[in-house]
This record gives sequence, structure tokens and C-alpha cells, in this order.
Amino acid sequence: MAEQRRGARDAREPREDVRGEAGPGAPDTKDEVARAWDELVATARRTVADGLVVGTSGNVSVRVGDAVLVTPTGVPYERLAPGDVVGVGLDGRQVLGSLRPTSELPMHLAVYRATGARAVVHTHAVHATAVSTLVPELPLIHYMAGALGGAVRVAPYAAYGTEELAENMLGALADRTACLLQNHGTIAYGSSLTQAYDRTAQLEWMCRVWLTASSVPGLTPALLTREQLAEAEERLRGYGQQ
Ligand code: 13P
Ligand code: ZN
Repeated sequence: MAEQRRGARDAREPREDVRGEAGPGAPDTKDEVARAWDELVATARRTVADGLVVGTSGNVSVRVGDAVLVTPTGVPYERLAPGDVVGVGLDGRQVLGSLRPTSELPMHLAVYRATGARAVVHTHAVHATAVSTLVPELPLIHYMAGALGGAVRVAPYAAYGTEELAENMLGALADRTACLLQNHGTIAYGSSLTQAYDRTAQLEWMCRVWLTASSVPGLTPALLTREQLAEAEERLRGYGQQ
């Protein structure tokens, strides 16, 4: 991708029309944008390396000041160079770069408008996508649902890239930090790219556990009760190094 664009303005440079503009959409500093873009590209590449995505499926975004950096639509992540940065304001107006933003901009922007998210990861992870075709909610197979705010819902199907899909997703995300998208994949958000990625990986892992356990002929997996999940959620608040 960088090849095609060689000779064009370095996209790390704010566009002329936003340079010096302190209003909405203007990123704080060039360094901050460059660092965030590097981290975004690394996260997008990790979704492929870890098998959560094939080809140019999925997309990643991160908030920098009033701007949102997003993966460009249809560009293989290994081809993304530092100069390919793409940034939009919360209104969707492009403020950085010239590559077209992800087609799932409506979902990403809806998350930032509705929550305190700093990063969003969308994938087509296999087990999660399979579960999204089977049930309206991931059965309570494991207490790690508590790390995502509770039982993970499935947003009803709508065509990719639409406002309708973004609306369905917001409904499924109520009080949660992740949900499944019916016949499509996952979306998760967090206070950092690492957290949004880790939530995605946990969700995919839980879907895999449920599918594995429910595939044993003649046996049905035990599920947690809402009370057991609430207890786990409480304990998870104190989990790890405080
Ligand atoms: P983009 O390449 O436009 O990000 O689309 C991938 C995708 O997952 C659409 O749902
Ligand atoms: Zn998708």
C-alpha cells in the first residue's frame, strides 16, 4: 500500500485543512498519533497471527484526543506502513490520511459515543462466529463472562458496515464490554488496545469451550447460575496485582 502512495504527503502529517485547528477531530500531537498508529497496526496484525481473523477481515480503532485512528478498509495489515495512518473525528469526518477508513466506522464510532472506550477490536473469530449462529446469548459456561460484564449477548444480524448493525450492537453491548454479532463475529472495547484485544481473545476462548463441551454426544454442559456469575464478577474486581 505504501508503494502506491509513495510521493504522496506523509499521512502522519495532519492534513492541511486540520493543521493548527484546535477543534474536534484534531489529534493532540504528532508523536502521540504515531505511537498510537504503531500500536494499532501491531494489534491488527496480532488478530491475524492469532487466527482471530483471515485476510482483511476485522478492524481495529484507538482514540487519540478527539480523533479516532482506524484501520483502512480492505488493506492487508502486513502492508500497513507508518505513513498510512487514517483518522476520523467522532462525527466520522476524516481528519488524517487519505486511505478510506474501515467500512465498520458506524460500529466503532457508536462505541466511542456511547461509552468511555479508548480502543475497539472487531474480528471474525471462528468459534465466536459459530456461536453467533446458534444462540441469542452465550450460555454461562465459564466465570470469565464476568470479565466482560456478564452473559455475552448476540446482536441480531444486519449487513456489515450499516448503521443498523451499529444500533443492534449497542443494544447487545448494554452493561457489557463485548458482544457477538450474529453470523458475523465479535466486537470488544476497552481502556487500551491491549484490553480490547484481551477481551476479544477471552470471548473467543469461551465460545470455544462452550462449543467443545456441547459437542459431546449424550452429555450437556453444566452452566453457571446468575448468582455464581455475580459472585465471580465481584471476585474479579480484586483479581491480579492491585
Ligand atoms: P474493513 O476491511 O472495511 O475493515 O471490513 C472488514 C470487516 O470485518 C467488515 O465487517
Ligand atoms: Zn466484520
